Amino acid sequence: MRSTSFVLAALLSASNVYAHDPNFAHAVVARQASSAPAGTSSAAAPASGTASASATASSPSQVSVSLISQNPTAIPLSSITANMASSATIALYTTFPAGSTPTALTGVPPLPDASPIIANPALYPPLDKTPPTDSPEVMQWITEVANSGISIPNISVTTAAAACGANAAAAADTSRCWWTCGGCTRDTDITTCADELTWGLTYDDGPAFYTPNLLQYLNENNLKTTFFTIGSRILEEPVILQTEYMLGHQLGVHTWSHPPLTTLTNNEIIAEFGWTKKIMKDLTGVTPNTFRPPFGDIDDRVRAIAQAMSLQPVIWTRLSPTVTFDTGDFNINAGTISSSEVVSNFNAIMNNATQIQTGFIVLEHDLFEQTVDLAIGYILPEAMAHSPKFTLEPVITCQKMPLENAYIETNDNSTHPPFGPNVTSSAGSGSATSTGGGAQSSSTGSSASPLSPPVLGASVASVLVTSGLGIVAAVFSLL
Ligand SMILES: [Zn+2]
Repeated sequence: MRSTSFVLAALLSASNVYAHDPNFAHAVVARQASSAPAGTSSAAAPASGTASASATASSPSQVSVSLISQNPTAIPLSSITANMASSATIALYTTFPAGSTPTALTGVPPLPDASPIIANPALYPPLDKTPPTDSPEVMQWITEVANSGISIPNISVTTAAAACGANAAAAADTSRCWWTCGGCTRDTDITTCADELTWGLTYDDGPAFYTPNLLQYLNENNLKTTFFTIGSRILEEPVILQTEYMLGHQLGVHTWSHPPLTTLTNNEIIAEFGWTKKIMKDLTGVTPNTFRPPFGDIDDRVRAIAQAMSLQPVIWTRLSPTVTFDTGDFNINAGTISSSEVVSNFNAIMNNATQIQTGFIVLEHDLFEQTVDLAIGYILPEAMAHSPKFTLEPVITCQKMPLENAYIETNDNSTHPPFGPNVTSSAGSGSATSTGGGAQSSSTGSSASPLSPPVLGASVASVLVTSGLGIVAAVFSLL
């Protein structure tokens, strides 16, 4: 368990780095309460790394990691810490005027003018709070969900933390297929990519100050990704969102204020999705049809509401309760994991990724300087230098679909039926796949250190075999 002072220290750290956003502490509180990174259960890499032990008594220890490759201009790993001095943000290397159209997409409208949104942010709900449910916009979306033909199951709302230990009855109820507790997925959840050695690259929680650094690196290396963006951050950085879109990256919804969705009422979930879809369409002209649940917190009630709003879930690959493709990068900023531990986690993820019969999806973030520094300095160079070679691409194309299928307005209805009210199989009716042997502990951060269990032993190999079958079946049912 984390002490109060520990959480306070994390909040202070976060507010220092994310000083432009006075409300951001709210989001950090929610994260601390509900979702430490599920352990990636990494085997320690050979002790010949470049990371040096420079931890102080109050910060997590750096560990030795073995690097295949790193960006020559990378910030030293030991300097990427919760309290690192912020470097200057860089300008977007390119921007696009209103009226432009992206070369990567066909059949899309001209890029809208962002200036009315920049001039009047009060057109949208307050930052980092679940939007009110009695606005005309939300009431309209509530009506549309009611008229969608999708039945929303009567599943209870979980308590504020959406933690398994605090929701024992819900965690034990496998019929609700609650990913948070047990890793249950439905065949409509995207958790992997179709082809082996293919990484469906994703970055969450932006757009943010250091996203331009990531965009520049991706461009220099001819990479495209999927950005799961938060409505509140979009309102702060509308031009970055437009640039992501215009450069041919995939956009997906990551809610307005980043709550654990199972803790919200139906109407609150509708408000979270609806406003995020709206600001994304207002700025790009198109509406994403995928979403990532914050913390992966999804059950059949959330799935059904999302389906009624034409949003398909994208989580990240999970092989067992302790083998989850979560780098843990978000928690560097909170001071609960070191940068070298994150790289070690990623090395373990790459090892696991070579042993499964599908591609994979990894949880990473572009919200903080630390997470971007790690991505462009270490994680992406490591991935690109890996042997056997990985293919890095957005989630939509790793499902063997064109980028147009990532948006409601351009989805190809003839060859790829859209996910939404017109789909006959409801979210709750498909077969469930559980990669867990039971409920996870409510907070995995302390008891399941990302570095604790070995990952490549015989016992884990058997996990890969048994759980991999379910994942393969899930992927093929999607295509
Ligand atoms: Zn997130």
